[in-house]
Amino acid sequence: MTRKKFIAGNWKMNTNRAIALELANAIAKGAVGGVDIGIAPPFVYLDSVRAVIAETPVLLGAQDVYFEKSGAFTGEISVDMLKDVGVKFVLTGHSERRHVFGESAELISKKAHAVYAGGLILVHCIGEKLEERDAGNTFKVVQGQLEELTNQIQDPARLVIAYEPVWAIGTGRNATDAQAQEVHAYIRGAMAKQWNKDFADAVRIQYGGSLKPENAPGLLAQPDVDGGLIGGAALKAESFLSIVSAAQG
Ligand code: PEP
Repeated sequence: MTRKKFIAGNWKMNTNRAIALELANAIAKGAVGGVDIGIAPPFVYLDSVRAVIAETPVLLGAQDVYFEKSGAFTGEISVDMLKDVGVKFVLTGHSERRHVFGESAELISKKAHAVYAGGLILVHCIGEKLEERDAGNTFKVVQGQLEELTNQIQDPARLVIAYEPVWAIGTGRNATDAQAQEVHAYIRGAMAKQWNKDFADAVRIQYGGSLKPENAPGLLAQPDVDGGLIGGAALKAESFLSIVSAAQG
């Protein structure tokens, strides 16, 4: 089964308007075929970044969402609002949402199902903390986070799992090729049990955690690594595009 690699940049709470537009423009100009490419700017720049990447293959993404349709939810953004500004994919379960903002599995699950039900691509992030890995609980943790998703999610083209070991995010310490492949293969096996083998074989599993031009060729060459979710290295067009090139193989 060949899965088209998907390289996505999560800009987090970085850039300003001018930098966001310049970065989006440079990425759109350097985009190459054969790989899906996405960028997730801060909410306030989504609309203007959309204008810059319109008519290019670069997909617009959102870093978060709220599951309710509308109403008295001060500060929140709905799936329909994201669709209105051209968003195509949405992250749920990012480790910063889980561990900095304390989002519960229940909340993350509701957000994930709202994204999917709204017709968008769901990028569901899972990954263990260092103490969980050290205690031998990596598989148990990722399995539990995978179970935040139900069989209501049926289209493998609209589900992406981002395996992001928390100890590798923003630390400069990436998982080794073998560590990433081991967990990715486990995740695919767990998905085959939770859904079925055809579904599991079709879903893309991105690696995230200090992915950069130097380690991208090795990590992206692993058989179950189908792309990357990138934080720091996504903030410079040159490094982001060099990871995109590595994904071309
Ligand atoms: C992320 O936050 O999703 C991430 C992978 O960050 P970084 O690439 O900076 O480790």
